[in-house]
Amino acid sequence: MLDCIIIGSGIAGISAALTLKANQKSFLIFGNSSLSEKIAKAESIRNYVGFIGGTGKQLVETLKKQLETEEIFIQEERVSGVYALKDKYMVMTEEGGMYESKSVILACGVESVKQIEGEETYLGRGVSYCATCDGFLYKDKTIAVLCTTKRLEHEIGYLAKIAKKIYLIPMYKDVEISGDNITIIRKMPKKIEGTKRVEKLLFVAPPTPEFSAELSVDGIFMLRECVSPAVLVGGLQTESGHVVVGRDMSTNLKGCFAAGDCTGRPYQYAKAAGEGNVAAHSVSEYVK
Ligand code: FAD
Repeated sequence: MLDCIIIGSGIAGISAALTLKANQKSFLIFGNSSLSEKIAKAESIRNYVGFIGGTGKQLVETLKKQLETEEIFIQEERVSGVYALKDKYMVMTEEGGMYESKSVILACGVESVKQIEGEETYLGRGVSYCATCDGFLYKDKTIAVLCTTKRLEHEIGYLAKIAKKIYLIPMYKDVEISGDNITIIRKMPKKIEGTKRVEKLLFVAPPTPEFSAELSVDGIFMLRECVSPAVLVGGLQTESGHVVVGRDMSTNLKGCFAAGDCTGRPYQYAKAAGEGNVAAHSVSEYVK
């Protein structure tokens, strides 16, 4: 069994991976080949130790070289759930993968788009974060899909093959996906309403003249770059959306550690790198 699974390929996850490698621990790091949008999008980085006034894209290239040199490979799968069993963790991915490890490091960052009112209330009752996990529940139904990144458009494509109608609310420019059953709405959603399950999505202002200020839907998919850690791991203690950690980056769950933006402010590369390093040392002690 693996010593550790790292969730997230930003600075926190990479820093943890480098330290686990140095400590000769077995691990997998889940994320994507572009590492992190929050690194790539930085215009100029001036406060990261050892990196002199470059762009985020340059930092991504440097990190890729470092990973290659250390023979660390990113597992390009999106984690959909982490389950604490008696003395191990089971990690499931949207691609259908199932992995076991003695410990986990949550380094999944934070989503900059705020949650919508009602999102938590209707989670599992019409609100979903994973197209491939829950898409089949909406065969021939009408759904809304809020998507924050073009990188997840393939999930919209997957849903479009199942659902009768999709209202797509993209939170990014240059939408590429289209289809007969996809209608794009460029308005800010405000609230989710329903009785037992999701019934309506309300907007800040009427979406378009042809719709009222609300849509009747059977379900709502939130496709975001970063899923809230509390959604990923049942029973995880969070405060104001951040994972509660000790100085050793341990959480309230034995063998579960967290690092980077997901543990709280300041949202900075140096903090993320430091916490990733501490979390990896704590894992090394834990699995001894
Ligand atoms: P992230 O970088 O957000 O990485 C998390 C990764 O985890 C992402 O790749 C995400 O796709 C992946 N992930 C999430 N959920 C899952 C899942 N379920 N399965 C698989 N993978 C998952 N900080 C500075 O110190 N200096 C700066 O100059 C600076 N400039 C910035 C400029 C911009 C435009 C932005 C947006 C941020 C900037 N920051 C800066 C802040 C910095 O980007 C963050 O503090 C840092 O990226 C946090 O690193 P992280 O590893 O915690 O999270």
